[in-house]
Amino acid sequence: MLKLYNSLTRKVEELKPVSDKTVGFYACGPTVYNFVHIGNLRSILLYDFLRRALEYSGFKVKHVMNITDVGHLTSDADTGEDKMEKNAKTAMDVYEVATKYTRAFLEDMNALNMLAPHVMPKASEHITEQIAMIKKLMARDAAYESNEAVYFDVSKFPKYNQLTGQKLEDMMLGARQEVVQDPKKRNPVDFVLWFKAVGRYRNHILRWDSPWGAGFPGWHIECSAMSKKYLGQPFDIHAGGVDLKFPHHTNEIAQSEAADKKPLANVWVHGEHLLVNEGKMAKSEQNFLTLKDITDKKFNPLAFRYLTLTAHYRTKLNFTWDALTAAQNALNNLYQEISGYDEPKVGCAEFEQHFEEALNDDLNLPKALAVAHDLIRSDYPGHAKLQSLFKFDEVLGLKLRETWELSRSSDTVRSLVDQREAARSAGDFDTADELRKKVDDEGYLIDDTSGGPLIKKKFK
Ligand SMILES: [Zn+2]
Repeated sequence: MLKLYNSLTRKVEELKPVSDKTVGFYACGPTVYNFVHIGNLRSILLYDFLRRALEYSGFKVKHVMNITDVGHLTSDADTGEDKMEKNAKTAMDVYEVATKYTRAFLEDMNALNMLAPHVMPKASEHITEQIAMIKKLMARDAAYESNEAVYFDVSKFPKYNQLTGQKLEDMMLGARQEVVQDPKKRNPVDFVLWFKAVGRYRNHILRWDSPWGAGFPGWHIECSAMSKKYLGQPFDIHAGGVDLKFPHHTNEIAQSEAADKKPLANVWVHGEHLLVNEGKMAKSEQNFLTLKDITDKKFNPLAFRYLTLTAHYRTKLNFTWDALTAAQNALNNLYQEISGYDEPKVGCAEFEQHFEEALNDDLNLPKALAVAHDLIRSDYPGHAKLQSLFKFDEVLGLKLRETWELSRSSDTVRSLVDQREAARSAGDFDTADELRKKVDDEGYLIDDTSGGPLIKKKFK
């Protein structure tokens, strides 16, 4: 029985899906005006681990993750420009930027061996649904209009603080003034559902017609509208980084529940921060790192995936290059170890049970990983270990099967790779390039990592 810590009730609870057939799972995706950093990727990896663990436990999952491609709270307070729009002159320019960074994000997901969500809705393609929800809130008197915006009226939703557990006055201090000096805003904690393209937003490029005039939706409403469209309400699990609890998730809950008079989601899962050298990552700081920074240093991206397995999702993980090196070494040792195992068969029931218990224990992946290592150290024969390890890898996602299969690749390919290594060491890069081409012709790719070359089968 899979148990998860529910941020909403502050308890570890057994997962009981609304429908016994499918778990509805919504995860807040990235804003695509820049490359995502490795802190964002830790959150996205949590979604992937959680989805895989659900499937491992026998649930069918519908996994939805949004792509935020419409301006929101990151708007530059002085100019009213959206970050995504800063260098853009037309809507096409904005979408070009969004498309570029969406593509880069999907490449990161792929490099980290994440399963693609079943639906990845874009905010810009769901404006109708967002407007419909705002209309409903207006009709229910849970929202009001000023000359500059349409606001959600927090006073109409007494449970507003249920997710944070904070006093409303304390939350007000943290609430950002979304529209500067709007005399019609009733309460500092009220948040924007619809920005009108007037005043500081008069030149906002992305805009749509609405009952309140041309403008664009606030950030929070996209998740409420799109999760409802694809998963219904309530759905089972809503996940995100811990920094999204307030205001984002708090506001999602308020507007969805006020509009439809039922809960938005039953279980809320929040992943802790990734720190870099003990500090929070910020664009202005030296410690803003992307996956490219990692692969540029010749690390296997899966070393980062491995690193995130070593800390429980509800604890902070401190990223250092030393920690990543240790993860890369551990992963290489794992690959090395299994390359000596025979064809998988039978499996080790005792260890499989421990692995499942670790998953069920609020997705305790460090424990699950430790079970895999205990299994390797055990006296079971290689073929039995391999059978269970392949099973574990359905959750861990470290490409153990592919790596093992490659270790059995033909002598020809391995000999070519060895010759290439020798040529590289001797500084004969022309020969090394020719040998790489021959390996390529045999249907394999060479990935040069800090732990030596990895051979990968090419998939069409
Ligand atoms: Zn969201």
